[in-house]
Amino acid sequence: MFKALIVDKDDTGKTHAAVQDITLDRLPAGDVTVAVDYSTVNYKDGLCIGPGGGLVRHYPHIPGIDFAGTVEASDDPRYAPGDKVVLTGWRVGEAHWGGYAQKARVKADWLVPLPDGLTTRAAMAVGTAGFTAMLAVMALEDHGIKSGPVLVTGAAGGVGSVATAILAHLGYQVAAVTGRPETADYLTSLGATQIVAREDLAETVKRPLEGETWGGCVDAVGGAMLARVLGQMEYGASVAAVGLAGGANLPATVIPFLLRGVNLLGIDSVMQPYDNRLRAWARIARDLPMDKLDAMIQPATLAELPQLGADILAGRVKGRVVVDVNA
Ligand code: NDP
Repeated sequence: MFKALIVDKDDTGKTHAAVQDITLDRLPAGDVTVAVDYSTVNYKDGLCIGPGGGLVRHYPHIPGIDFAGTVEASDDPRYAPGDKVVLTGWRVGEAHWGGYAQKARVKADWLVPLPDGLTTRAAMAVGTAGFTAMLAVMALEDHGIKSGPVLVTGAAGGVGSVATAILAHLGYQVAAVTGRPETADYLTSLGATQIVAREDLAETVKRPLEGETWGGCVDAVGGAMLARVLGQMEYGASVAAVGLAGGANLPATVIPFLLRGVNLLGIDSVMQPYDNRLRAWARIARDLPMDKLDAMIQPATLAELPQLGADILAGRVKGRVVVDVNA
């Protein structure tokens, strides 16, 4: 028997989440069984702990879109018992049972060997949010970061915190946008050189072009803020669009693309090919200062997940929630 957070639907369609003891035979089919050490709380997890938001395919369900742990059994030659592994993406925790359990069974193709220099706890402090932040930074680098500060929106959240720490470590000036002024010291400790109040970017676009201010942007917020930021980018600069915490509609004009050559780069962490995953995890192990990572961690247990799921959807979580599934 092992512990898992099971989300189920009752006859009225209402979902309920509770920690239960279950047996290995209930896990879905897969080549590799992993003894999970840690998982995390991401925005999608908040949706999947609750009514699902269209993400969960079948109930009962175990959420947890990422995990790190040790291989317990493997039918695939690439993995042997005792190997440390990490998983993000592939709709695990949505269409397939995920990491909010002491055991998980998945396809070998979805796993990545834990990179040298990272513990399973550090890998999950990074988790899906941090992995995505790294992909965003790599996309900005590929397109060239200009001279101005790099803007990070939703900075006190998971993606924003890791993006801020990586960019600062790489030597860029980082302007961190937050709606929570009380997180200013935290963001400065991660390396932000400028704090921008959310309300300064909240007004909808009045002029399609404003002063050329930002040399690049990692955007976790989308919506009206992204539309506004597009008109403030330097000529030829890029925005890596990661999320929609502030809304899915983009009330923008095409002018920043036509007259400033701005690039809007979409970042998807879910379907990244294996080689890209390896490259991103190797860069994380190299370019993310581990002392900064410690400052981002909020520890949690399986029993605390229902509350934390609601917190992340309400934008109340700071940094990264790391779930010790064995605590
Ligand atoms: P968090 O909730 O940890 O962070 C989001 C942050 O956005 C909040 O902390 C808050 O930052 C800010 N925010 C929240 N609501 C609003 C609002 N209404 N207007 C403006 N800002 C707001 O989530 P994550 O960092 O884990 O994820 C961020 C987004 O990225 C989500 O939409 C998520 O689904 C997406 N995502 C996408 C991935 C991909 O593959 N493309 C992978 C991972 C995440 P502050 O308090 O500092 O203002």
